[in-house]
Amino acid sequence: MTNPFLALGLEPRWVANLTALGYTEPTPIQAQAIPLLLAGHDLLGRSQTGTGKTAAFGLPLLQSLDPDATHVQALVVTPTRELALQVTQALRDYARGQGVSILPVYGGQGYGPQLRALRRGRAAVVVGTPGRLLDLLQRGALRLDQVRWVVLDEADEMLSMGFIDDITTLLEATPPERQTALFSATLPRPVRALAEGYMRAPRHIAIQPQETTARGITQQAFRVRERDKLAALTRLLAAHSIATGLIFCRTRANTRAVAQALNDHGWPAAALHGDMSQAAREDVFAAVRRGHVRLLVATDVAARGLDIAQVSHVINYDLPTDPEVYIHRVGRTARAGKTGLAWSLVTPRERGLWRRIERRVRQRIPFGKLPSAQDIAQARQSRLLEQLQRALEEGVPESQAARQVLHTLVDQGHDPLTITLAALHLAQAHEPQAKVLPLHEPTAWTSERREHRRRGAWERERRPRRERREREPGMVRLGFAAGRMHGLRPGDVVGTLAYQARIPGAVIGRIQIGDDTTWVDVPQDYVDQVLAHDAFRWGRRTVKVWKA
Ligand code: AMP
Repeated sequence: MTNPFLALGLEPRWVANLTALGYTEPTPIQAQAIPLLLAGHDLLGRSQTGTGKTAAFGLPLLQSLDPDATHVQALVVTPTRELALQVTQALRDYARGQGVSILPVYGGQGYGPQLRALRRGRAAVVVGTPGRLLDLLQRGALRLDQVRWVVLDEADEMLSMGFIDDITTLLEATPPERQTALFSATLPRPVRALAEGYMRAPRHIAIQPQETTARGITQQAFRVRERDKLAALTRLLAAHSIATGLIFCRTRANTRAVAQALNDHGWPAAALHGDMSQAAREDVFAAVRRGHVRLLVATDVAARGLDIAQVSHVINYDLPTDPEVYIHRVGRTARAGKTGLAWSLVTPRERGLWRRIERRVRQRIPFGKLPSAQDIAQARQSRLLEQLQRALEEGVPESQAARQVLHTLVDQGHDPLTITLAALHLAQAHEPQAKVLPLHEPTAWTSERREHRRRGAWERERRPRRERREREPGMVRLGFAAGRMHGLRPGDVVGTLAYQARIPGAVIGRIQIGDDTTWVDVPQDYVDQVLAHDAFRWGRRTVKVWKA
């Protein structure tokens, strides 16, 4: 059986190294990018780290090098020093035994070794950050006039770090007939402009799941503290007319607790969870269909078999830990061309998870303000008005007795308007009022400004240590027996788990790389799948895994 990497057009000399690294199958981005790059095309790749993009550009790049040349032939530009080192290491692994010299250059390191290596003319591939590369170029130490390959890695990150001008200067210093590959998770306008200005008819590839949320669904999020979730829910329910609402909780216990609490406060709701008998489930469905119950509180599993055509509102009381599940949940509304609303309650600990969900649906979902007491009063008023208008339009049933009472009151000298007000007051007083609960912390948990900071790194750096160690709910922490001292990086963890344990990279939560141990948060549902392996192959290393 031929090795699948050979089928992509790679030469046999790489296969042993790839096998030693545990690469038996190309990842999707490799399968798409390698043949295009080998055919000489420029490439615009939309992909994130952890997809295997280093090998996707690295192998064709290495294969195209001239072994006899003594000048820099390929330039890889990365936003950070860490990434420069990672890419260097990966390229060295792929090129092992081939006599290719790959030089990382980055700021914060003395110039001496970099200058010496460049002067000796031994570096075939230079991997670096834009600032230092430019610096070396301007000192005359780095010559790019014979470069045949340029790779811009994580272009959108470089853009947001203000490197765009440095990159154009670097590109200008290379021959226009070079081959160029650009990778970016997003394609903001300046990145597109860069591609248009400096690439020749680039082929586009996108390695991202295609399915996202449907049109017709309005998504909104609300910042709440954990203990305010129920209060927040009652506020949302009070301020909107909900035909059928599907409220998702993460656990069975929570579905029961939330449904019970809603009922206790005058909001008829039914729980739907896996412990229920089929007959009990049928009863719930029937009650919903007859309109007796408008709110269903369900777990993901229980909601699977739910056959209710018109869900007007999906409410994520607990966020799902898997962004894919978010899409399924939200897809329960706005069926058959109808419109629907999807609300999500997001707690401070779920910031990272929320960002992953936004990345998955490929849009920013706006944070709304929870309805105030005034909003709720106004909503009730307009509902009363609507009800009265409808009754007047449909015709009020004739009642001799009521007429008699009115006449008596008017004869007694009461104003008809005052009589009507008294009647409304009585009607409302007799109607069971659903209760709106007060919030413990009426202000949202974070400022708008912070939310608008696009870059996750900013928040990660500034978040207090204690919080960083906390686990997102529903996640289980696993230990890996490898860490910083072995050169492990987050992309390796994602890559290894995704390819070897076959779990979606997007579901992997926080990754903390220690000196010799790494902690990874994985959703409960995937733990068994990961632990089915006692150990993973990472490069030449066998890495043990255990439940923390
Ligand atoms: P990257 O997106 O290039 O940073 O790669 C992420 C991780 O996936 C790294 O640990 C790679 O070693 C690993 N990886 C890349 N390609 C493959 C493959 N074809 N098979 C197995 N692991 C891979």
